[in-house]
Amino acid sequence: MPGLELFGDEERKEVMDVLDSKCLFRYNHEHLRNGHWKAKELEAEVMNFTGAKFAHAVSSGSTAVACAMASAGIGYGDHVIVPPFTYIATIEGVIFGGGVPVFAEIDENLCLSAAGIEAAITPETKAVCLVHMCGAAANMDEIMEVCNKHNLTLIEDAGQALGAFYKGTSAGLFGKTGAYSFDFFKITTAGEGGLYVTNDEECYKLADSYSDHGHDHIGANRGMEQHPILGFNYRLSELHAAVGLAQMRKINTIRDTNKKNKTYLKNLLAGTEGLSFRPIPDEEGDSGTFLNFFLPDTETAQKVMAEFGKMGIGGFNYWYTNMYHFINQWDHLKKLKSAAPLHLHKMDLPQDYNNLDLPKSQEVVGRLISLGISTQWTEEQMNELAANMKTAIANAI
Ligand SMILES: *Cc1c(COP(=O)(O)O)cnc(C)c1O
Repeated sequence: MPGLELFGDEERKEVMDVLDSKCLFRYNHEHLRNGHWKAKELEAEVMNFTGAKFAHAVSSGSTAVACAMASAGIGYGDHVIVPPFTYIATIEGVIFGGGVPVFAEIDENLCLSAAGIEAAITPETKAVCLVHMCGAAANMDEIMEVCNKHNLTLIEDAGQALGAFYKGTSAGLFGKTGAYSFDFFKITTAGEGGLYVTNDEECYKLADSYSDHGHDHIGANRGMEQHPILGFNYRLSELHAAVGLAQMRKINTIRDTNKKNKTYLKNLLAGTEGLSFRPIPDEEGDSGTFLNFFLPDTETAQKVMAEFGKMGIGGFNYWYTNMYHFINQWDHLKKLKSAAPLHLHKMDLPQDYNNLDLPKSQEVVGRLISLGISTQWTEEQMNELAANMKTAIANAI
């Protein structure tokens, strides 16, 4: 949780600006605000950092994904290729936007692979929702090639990839629309919050309206605004925006420290028998939030996790059976359990979600362990951590 690790006076100051002005709402009320527009300032910081032409702050990463889907024109019955390794918000974003998820294979890069996407394409396929997992960008040259070749709309869930770049372009800006999360666990946190980004003005306008009951946000009188489309309430409060703004101003420091610590640890671990690292197509563009590594097979990875447990060293994620980011844990999705009937219950589905055949993804996630990088580690602590990790791995293999 790097964002949370660097949390203090700056966040307090921004929040106090809002509390003192009593203007907790992001729109209008100029007479109250003392000139503070925290959501707008947060958007400006995100545009500046990522290079996005447009950014729009919303209530969560999940609602940013919802905006990304709708504003890219993905709706009822549209087939969207998705990965089985992601936070489930991606899949929910497709479903609750009216779309139909189609699962495809990831590879060692932890994101959808070009080959995986290509194998899942049918005449029904409309879009790909690419997820840049665990802090680094997907293999974008190859993915753009497949999307262009098949004329597919690309949407990016960069919920875990603010601070990740590929050959100079920020994750989230390759496709038509993209989404970042500012939840409690991300590189920058607002407690709750999300950022929608795009370089397309029409998409931006749609997302801006969609996230606020269709308001066009033209003029200074909210009650008299026009509503070009139906929408919903995905607004971010000024209090959350204030925290996100202070955090966003620290992102370069967080990213640089993460990367420095990750490189240090990686160098200590390099050459360990049985251990290999996630291939990152653009190392320089890594956000450094996770060190992702593989063991030779699922059984060994589970033994290594057990060794870590015995030694009492923490901070490791084993997504294959723990956590909530892999299809093996999504029983509710596999059985399409929902509060109320869904469109998916009433149509022929392209896949049986309960019996998906994704051997590559199973194999990759089975061998994968992810370690969250801390900005607070000292070299001494990292030396000790690496030594312990090597012992655990040697004991397991
Ligand atoms: C965190 C995350 C989200 C959801 O973000 P929230 O802000 O928690 O709603 C979506 N997609 C991915 C890949 C995430 O990691």
